[in-house]
Amino acid sequence: MRYSQSFIYTLKEDQKEAAIISHNLLLRGGFISKLASGIYNYLPLGLKVIKKVSNIVREEMDAAGALEILMAAIQPAELWMESGRWNDYGKELLRIKDRKESDFVFGPTHEEVVTDIVKKYAKSYKDLPFNLYQIQTKFRDELRPRFGLMRGREFIMKDAYSFDADEDSMDISYLKMREAYYNIFRRCGLAFRSVEADTGSIGGKDSEEFMVLSSTGEDEIVVCDACEYSANVERAESITEDDAGSEEKLEKVETPNKQTIKNVCEFLNADEKFSAKALVYKNEEGKIFCFFVEGDDELNEIKAARATGSVELEMLSDEELKKAGLTKGYIGPINFPNKDIEVICDKRLENRNNLVVGANEENYHYKGAKLHRDFECDKIADLRSVKEGEVCPKCEKGKLKRIRGIEVGHIFKLGLKYSQAMNALFLDKNGKTQPFYMGCYGIGIGRTAQAAVEQNNDEKGIIWPISIAPFEVEIVSLDSKDIAMSSYCDMIYDDMIYREIEVLYDERDERAGIKLNDMDLIGIPIRIVVGKKSFQNNKVEISLRREKDKKELIDIDAVLDYITELREKLYAELETIREV
Ligand code: ATP
Ligand code: MG
Repeated sequence: MRYSQSFIYTLKEDQKEAAIISHNLLLRGGFISKLASGIYNYLPLGLKVIKKVSNIVREEMDAAGALEILMAAIQPAELWMESGRWNDYGKELLRIKDRKESDFVFGPTHEEVVTDIVKKYAKSYKDLPFNLYQIQTKFRDELRPRFGLMRGREFIMKDAYSFDADEDSMDISYLKMREAYYNIFRRCGLAFRSVEADTGSIGGKDSEEFMVLSSTGEDEIVVCDACEYSANVERAESITEDDAGSEEKLEKVETPNKQTIKNVCEFLNADEKFSAKALVYKNEEGKIFCFFVEGDDELNEIKAARATGSVELEMLSDEELKKAGLTKGYIGPINFPNKDIEVICDKRLENRNNLVVGANEENYHYKGAKLHRDFECDKIADLRSVKEGEVCPKCEKGKLKRIRGIEVGHIFKLGLKYSQAMNALFLDKNGKTQPFYMGCYGIGIGRTAQAAVEQNNDEKGIIWPISIAPFEVEIVSLDSKDIAMSSYCDMIYDDMIYREIEVLYDERDERAGIKLNDMDLIGIPIRIVVGKKSFQNNKVEISLRREKDKKELIDIDAVLDYITELREKLYAELETIREV
């Protein structure tokens, strides 16, 4: 592509709306353009990247035996009622009406549609197993769309769905996808890690997320420093020290104006570990739950939602607390004042022999409280987030660390959830009808592309991994008026096209500074700079974007072979997994 004939518009200024580097760089480099909150247009450079990522995904899915289809984006509401998600999915689901006032949704995911297709055609165990996938635009009305393509409302996803006759066979389909995902993210040049994930309200069996490691990631991951254990913090567990403390007598004490657990413990000279704090939430149906965790622990909202079978939890406002008969700052499990509220304690509280807890009365707490002796609760569950330094539950030796990541892919054993709800059945070997065992497997195409930018950039711009770069090579001619230089550049440009090297040729009549800045910003991995001085000595300057100060002067006749080799070297580097 000749720059002068392209549609590349770079921006000098940082973009205010961008809270993370990759979003800023994609906007500044002219890759994407915002249409509305969480809704973006892909400009030519951006679309090239999207196509590259899609092609890698497609090649690996095909190699794993999955079959590409393209399902409708608009889906009838009836299917969602059949699966039960018309009510469960909440506000993320974009609902629309046609001219006859019939309800439809713009698909956020396609379990319903694919199950509906499969049950029409696959009737026998002989048809199984198979895996259907598509690469398609989804819509989710996210609460907080942000970070450009990372959390959009309209975004491109690869979604695949496997169908099997039994659980063992489903496990094999899942492993095939797992392997394909490793290949995909490796080929995209990402440093990533797969982690155990929460199976959420779907309640399936196994689930893993693929995380691109980045300090700006929205997900938090717990990893062991000694073994391969890694899990989303929503799922992670740990071995904690279990100092039970001495048994004490239950005693009601005055704690004037001491509302936070920190203040109360300081005042009573107690360790925060030996206290229980209350957190009160309501779910999507308005049902209220009171969770108790240790004073210095953090309630994990996803674990809490799972313990209650809720889709979403929202903290009660002060007013709502009052209405529910609870005394803010003094809520405790002894004589809990509202029987309609479900009380759930973190399982760590069972280990403590004496706890400071609220007395459900202004300015009073109890000390010496013990679960199962002084109070009961409706349920005990794992509610807390693991902390750094706690011991790994797998190897029982290593220390746990918390790091951040961007979830780019998710694989999930669904089991019978959709096939049962939607009556998708086949005849097994014995002539008996059975529901399909299903798995689902997603990859955010745009999120993956942007995660690569988040991981590979410097103060000047993007450093694309070669496999997903909009072009592999850029030629910059620093003086497009010089006829000898221009005809040389034209020649190597044509030769590269002949060799099927993807090349951007900046032959604009612009100042060198502008061209070099644009080149740094756009981030094409291999660059050839043709400048007057070196050209007079029959040389050109070749460098890699990632080592832009390490320039090689190459003989003008050797350039093509040199570039071909460099290109091969960069692709070969992607053969090794950068899992960390
Ligand atoms: P998240 O927890 O980030 O909301 P999710 O669990 O809702 O993700 P899935 O339903 O598993 O995501 O979707 C599969 C993949 O689609 C995700 O791994 C992610 O890469 C991508 N994805 C999900 N939501 C978005 C979004 N709003 N914008 C861009 N990509 C997304
Ligand atoms: Mg989501």
